[in-house]
Parts: sequence; C-alpha cells; structure tokens
Amino acid sequence: MEYIDLRSDTVTKPTPEMREAMATAEVGDDVYMDDPTVNELQEKSAEALGKDDALFVPSGTMGNLLALLVYCQRGDEIIVGDKSHIYLNEAGGSSALDGIHPRPIKNQSDGTLLLGDIREAIQSEDVHHTITRLICLENTQNSCGGVPLSLEYMQAVGKIARENNLSFHVDGARIFNAATALKISAKELVAPADSAMFCLSKGLVAPVGSMLVGAGKFIQRARHLRKMLGGGMRQAGVLAAAGLISLEKMTTRLEQDHIRAKKLSENLKQIHGLVLDADSPSTNMVYFNLADEVKLSVNQIADEMKKRGVLVDWAGPRRFRLVTHYWIDDAGVDKTAQALKDVMI
Ligand SMILES: *Cc1c(COP(=O)(O)O)cnc(C)c1O
Repeated sequence: MEYIDLRSDTVTKPTPEMREAMATAEVGDDVYMDDPTVNELQEKSAEALGKDDALFVPSGTMGNLLALLVYCQRGDEIIVGDKSHIYLNEAGGSSALDGIHPRPIKNQSDGTLLLGDIREAIQSEDVHHTITRLICLENTQNSCGGVPLSLEYMQAVGKIARENNLSFHVDGARIFNAATALKISAKELVAPADSAMFCLSKGLVAPVGSMLVGAGKFIQRARHLRKMLGGGMRQAGVLAAAGLISLEKMTTRLEQDHIRAKKLSENLKQIHGLVLDADSPSTNMVYFNLADEVKLSVNQIADEMKKRGVLVDWAGPRRFRLVTHYWIDDAGVDKTAQALKDVMI
C-alpha cells in the first residue's frame, strides 16, 4: 500500500531525476576536497545564501553542532529559543561534546524571541558570569507552527549581535520555506547572520544532507571539526548530486506545498472536534488540537488514519502536526481530509 505520508517533510524520497543524477554523478574523495559534485554543491549553496563558503554535512544536527563548536569554548553561553530544535531536539550535543551552556529564552507564539529578552540575557563581564558568545534563531520556527521570522526581525537581532560583539547563527533547516512565504530570497533573509544551516533532506526532497554556510575561516574550521566528529565523507558526490537538484529545482516549488497546506487546513476547519491554530499555516505545516469533547486519543486517531492509508504523527498529547511536501498532491490533501472526517465521526 502506498501511504499518504504527512508525518514530516523528512519522509520525502528522491525523485527519479535525483536517482538518475546520483547514478551518474562525477565523484572523488571529498576528504581530499576532490569530489567535483560536492564542490559544486558547496559553491552554489554559498552563493544562494550569500556567504563566502559552504560545507556539505550528513545532517542538520551536525551542521548546527559544528557552528556552535566553532564559535564557543567550554563554558561559553549561547542564547537559544526554549522551543528551538537546537535546545530541544539535538540530544544536547553541544553540552555533551563541548560543555556549551545554553541560555533558553521564551519563544513567542510567532516564533520570535523578544528583543528585550535577548538583550537582558547577554551576560555582563563579571567573575560570576558565563561568557555569552552566540545568538541562535530558527527560521522557520518549527514547533511554533513552521512560522517564518521576518527580515526586519532578523536585522534587529543582527544589530543586537553586532552591538554586543556576539556571533549570530541561523538554524535555517527550512530557510527556503521561510523565504518563499516572505517572498524574498534566502540570501537576503540570512544576510544579518554570520552563518546558517539548511537541510536538503526535508522539503527540498534530497535523501541525505544539509549545508552549513558562513565565512571562509568559519567553514575551514567547521571542516576540521566535521572530520573530528567522523563526518568526513568520501565519494559523497552521489549524495551531493541529489542536493544540486534540491537547490536548483526544489527551492522554487515550495509555494505549492504552502498552498496545499492552506487547502488542507481549510478542509480540516470544517471537521467537528479539530481546533486549528489561528493564522496557520504560514508554510508547509498544519498544526491542530483535539477539542476537549473528543474522546479518541491521538494514538487511536493515528491508527485509524493509517488503516485509511494516511500516516500522521501527533505533536503532543492532544496535538497533531501534518506536513505537506513534494509527494503530497491535491488528491492526497482531499483523501486526508476525508479520512479524518470519517475517523472523527
Ligand atoms: C530537522 C531539523 C534540524 C536537524 O536536521 P537533521 O538533518 O534531522 O539532523 C535542525 N533544525 C530544525 C529546525 C529542524 O527541523
């Protein structure tokens, strides 16, 4: 059975064009920086994000971790959102591996950190204090509804970082979704930041990989640390070949996923017992809660949906997140809404 899989945009399998490009990719040993396909992907990624250089990494988690390791020494502090992926969903890697001290700040419902909260969190020079090194933002902010953070907001945070001599890193796992929703380029959106990470393996459909972008020296150090962590890959061009198609063709079609997410959300609003988030969705994620009177548990609903050919994942004891992507077409949206309607009766 071919499921309609809305659990995440990470479930996207490579397109036939990607498989073809992977099969025929020119490759070399990327630890020697000899892989022409990886090199091309890195050059094009740096250009797309407006930074000097880029590094192909196995995962977004490793991309973020490398950035933190480059900027911070043991005991240094990073300002992060309390609902950010770096703080909640990266297994505490930067603490475990480098003794980095996170300073979580409340993520507002629109995904931002209040500028006043950021300013207040920056430590003054005092023998009692940690040393604040870095501000991290997530764009789109996944757990706040996949919301994009505006260019004005990014610029305001960039200004705070510069005024306080801090670095500024963007977890842009879905930065192209943010740029699409805001109708600006990803390059403009990350211009206020020193570095950014974006995932090829989510809405951009590649099977594996993420990109870290930043200044030349930053990437040089990150490449060294990637080797240290065991992430130096050899003929990685077979993966980068799919990534090139992500960058060139998948970044320009995300609007379709956003339109389908809107359509799905409109349909779900009609279903009794489902409470959609206000102003949602702004990108490819539809979040909703179960009304109090609903007796079914999230697990029961997910099981019933699976029997009807639709995979969904809950995001809390009474909450779901449905994600549209390349492999979800209009018929898939209709079938999902119909299945949920049947289950909720
Ligand atoms: C998925 C994700 C990551 C990490 O990417 P992986 O490739 O899964 O390690 C980081 N940040 C955000 C916001 C993500 O959604």
